[in-house]
Amino acid sequence: MKSLLSNQLKRKREKAKKYSSEPERFSIKENLVTVVSDHGIRTLQKIDEAWICDCDFFSKYATCSHVIATVEHISKHAQL
Ligand SMILES: [Zn+2]
Repeated sequence: MKSLLSNQLKRKREKAKKYSSEPERFSIKENLVTVVSDHGIRTLQKIDEAWICDCDFFSKYATCSHVIATVEHISKHAQL
């Protein structure tokens, strides 16, 4: 039986896949990224090669759909 957290993470990964397939959601400025999520605009900051997001899920679990999507988006579309 899957834990609640692993189900949540699975949903976050699915959402991240959707976001990263929609590049107009992202705006990148040096080490700051804003993502237009389904629940509002999130701001991510890159610190020591890791992305930090301002959403509640990130503050609890140190990952979220926005971080996953941003990493995928940058690897596909941007040269940083
Ligand atoms: Zn987030």
